[in-house]
Amino acid sequence: MVKVFLDPGHGGSDPGALGNGLREKDIALSATLKIGEILKNHNVEVYYSRTTDVFIELSERARKANNIGTNIFVSIHCNAYDGTAKGVETYSYPGAVQGAKLSKNILDSIIASGVYASNRGTKTANFAVLRETNMTAALVEMAFIDNPQDADILKYRQDDLAKAISKGILNYLGIKYVANNKEETKKTPIIGKATATVEQMKKWAMDKGANQKFIDLAPLFYSISNKAGINPIVTYTQSAKETGYMKFGGVLDITYNNPCGMKILAGGGDKDPNAHKRFENWEEGIQAQVDHLALYAGANGYPKSNTPDPRHFPYLKGSAATVESLGGKWAPSSSYGTDIAKMIKEVENTKVPSMEEAKEEKQLNKIKIDLHGKQLEVKGIYEEGANYIPVRFLENLGYKIDWKNGAVTINYKEDK
Ligand SMILES: [Zn+2]
Repeated sequence: MVKVFLDPGHGGSDPGALGNGLREKDIALSATLKIGEILKNHNVEVYYSRTTDVFIELSERARKANNIGTNIFVSIHCNAYDGTAKGVETYSYPGAVQGAKLSKNILDSIIASGVYASNRGTKTANFAVLRETNMTAALVEMAFIDNPQDADILKYRQDDLAKAISKGILNYLGIKYVANNKEETKKTPIIGKATATVEQMKKWAMDKGANQKFIDLAPLFYSISNKAGINPIVTYTQSAKETGYMKFGGVLDITYNNPCGMKILAGGGDKDPNAHKRFENWEEGIQAQVDHLALYAGANGYPKSNTPDPRHFPYLKGSAATVESLGGKWAPSSSYGTDIAKMIKEVENTKVPSMEEAKEEKQLNKIKIDLHGKQLEVKGIYEEGANYIPVRFLENLGYKIDWKNGAVTINYKEDK
């Protein structure tokens, strides 16, 4: 079995670099543990210099790895400079050929992931952990903790970073990266085409005993979401969860035109009615929800400059690509996203009679017609007050009906 030693930098009394409310020791540890989980899913034996917030000497880290005799050693850090520098760089020991290869694999993978494009390249340095380890070793400076944009990446895109670093390590080891079935391939993307129809949305809402307003708004949810490239079923089910199918009952009511419990710019408590946004109309409210979702999902063109979303903060971009990952982000509850994902499945599985089926049922009707005392019987769709022209019925009166090129010509037969 391949053995990998992961070394989250700093710890305990040594916080490492600081910036934007973050400490390097915390970011390095949480990213490293994520990398370790991914590697374990690929049958790699993973060892750590630390898995908690403790101080460990640099030489001790190297010695621990040497004693186990792992195949490779990867140290995880965050950079800091003057607040303006940004980007990723990876290191190996000067002259270490395999280390340079590992370092390059990790860097290439981070750049390929698209998390960000700022590539500072591979470098060499006489770092203690690179010098004192006797196996292939690399050190990753993930991003600049004192740069606001980089700090957002460390905060909100850490899963993507961890995945990219893991891919780079696996690639070096000649192991093919496979998305974890349990956690990745089954997740529900926010960006995408509609996975159900407006009719299914309406039928599902009806079956749930939704407020009539919620049922009536299905087409509006559909069109606004579609335009932004967001799956309308995501928006609709999220609104159902947030508003109790628009029956509300919390601090909001239907007059807020607020489909998702959206707060005002300043925010405020969940129980404070004034902390919640009152929209002009439903179109504006739904647009705000869709823009907020699209921002979370990292959709093209977001953040937008012109949006009714009062909390359209750029740092949110790309922080939740899937419905499941909204949990703990859009709302504090960790099951928030999986609850919505279940509702999405329900909508997708909702059966709506197709137009053909509905027509067949109705065509069984025989309609009795009394025309100036003349009794006629025709087959057709009987719908009281419906505005149909009963063309077939005219045949019974002796008219000749011609169907051609999408038009109907009706002539009275001369020989009659
Ligand atoms: Zn460091």
